[in-house]
Amino acid sequence: MVEQNHSQYWMGEYQGVFNNLPFLREVIDELDSATKKYKDFNSAHEGYAVILEELDELWDEIKKRKPSRDRISKEAVQVAAMAFRFLRDCC
Ligand SMILES: [Mg+2]
Repeated sequence: MVEQNHSQYWMGEYQGVFNNLPFLREVIDELDSATKKYKDFNSAHEGYAVILEELDELWDEIKKRKPSRDRISKEAVQVAAMAFRFLRDCC
């Protein structure tokens, strides 16, 4: 019997989720990138401020005269990743 490593097991168990939410991989990659670059949130206040900053960037793109769907998607991924980070670090 070939043993699966943790990552393979995890991906297998949640493959249906990834199929229905293809952008989830981008959110996880964004969270991974932020984790490598920055320290954990020190407080819920800090986490809230970072989520708000990302949300403002999303809103700035949405309200442009000619918004970019690609840019909106990237900003929404960043909002989601920071919400995950908040859950990890502050809850
Ligand atoms: Mg952003």
